[in-house]
Amino acid sequence: MSVPHTCLHCAVPPYMLHELARRGSDRQREWALRTLAADATIRQARAVNAKERGSSPREGADALAAVTSTTPKPNRIIRDGQSAWELTGLPRLRSEGEGPTGDPAVDEAYDGLGDTWTFWWEVFSRESIDDENMPLRGVVHFGEEFDNAFWDGRRMVFGDGDGELFLRFTRSLDVIGHELAHGVIEDEAGLEYWGQSGALNEHVADVAGSLVRQYKLGQDAAAADWLIGADLRGDEFDGDALRSMKAPGTAYDDAALGKDPQPRHWKDYVRTWDDNGGVHINSGIPNHAFYLLATNLGGTAWGRPGRIWFETLRHPRLRKTATMRQFAQLTHQVARRRYGASSAEAGAVLQAWEDVGVKWP
Ligand SMILES: [Zn+2]
Repeated sequence: MSVPHTCLHCAVPPYMLHELARRGSDRQREWALRTLAADATIRQARAVNAKERGSSPREGADALAAVTSTTPKPNRIIRDGQSAWELTGLPRLRSEGEGPTGDPAVDEAYDGLGDTWTFWWEVFSRESIDDENMPLRGVVHFGEEFDNAFWDGRRMVFGDGDGELFLRFTRSLDVIGHELAHGVIEDEAGLEYWGQSGALNEHVADVAGSLVRQYKLGQDAAAADWLIGADLRGDEFDGDALRSMKAPGTAYDDAALGKDPQPRHWKDYVRTWDDNGGVHINSGIPNHAFYLLATNLGGTAWGRPGRIWFETLRHPRLRKTATMRQFAQLTHQVARRRYGASSAEAGAVLQAWEDVGVKWP
């Protein structure tokens, strides 16, 4: 059986699953191959959804909503994947405003989508992913022992995990925040999912995922763990999380999953054809810069640092093919304009990028 290519916007990066297919037990290899096979199918579906969304009026963009001034509310719909590999014709398990069902996957998905919606609204006055209050759809119990979660351009899909290495994917709020952020990034910047711009796409999604969790927990930058996916580790998983923004390259070191390959400095940038040119790998460099900025400035990371990053994401001069240096320069420019050329904020942005080896004349 050949191992298919990478999954776009999946929580577990392809290289972890490739390692599992290579080094794992027979059972683990089976989980990995099944997940990789499903991921390849998902990638195609996602491309179709993105196209459709671009050419037709957006769902949830109610014309009346624009002229009334009521406070917007999320619109969540959670469906049952019924352990199958299908995403259509699925029964509803919980809709907006309905109470808990008692099924933790359903209720965690509902709450996680709600927490993510609240973050975007309260922090950035953004109504859902597209700023037109697009409904937040979730599918739980997708596939069998599916070791992933993903955003397919239309909905967030969660596997139940294998129970040993990975638990159900609804457990991790930062992963939910990360996946939904891909929708925001697509909408605002369309950063191409390859090489440096792809690593920036992954980076902004990690920032958003971590901020959603920090905001929910009311943590400032110093108190946060800066981990992605800590809550979905099973007993067999040797490590802290999928990724660490605080210490990229140290998140895990596991007999079956291999070792965290993320660099934290530009000098260690990984040139590879795998993982769309290392999008989940080299995101470690800007991730660490953001962590340094947030902890050096102090306070809440969704405050000044988050504001600078979100403005950069929306900046008309941010190109789809931006390099890390171009992105970094733009964050500095935004910080200077917003807080002043000689402000602590602008200085801290420059210092953070310099500390990870991203410099400009
Ligand atoms: Zn991602």
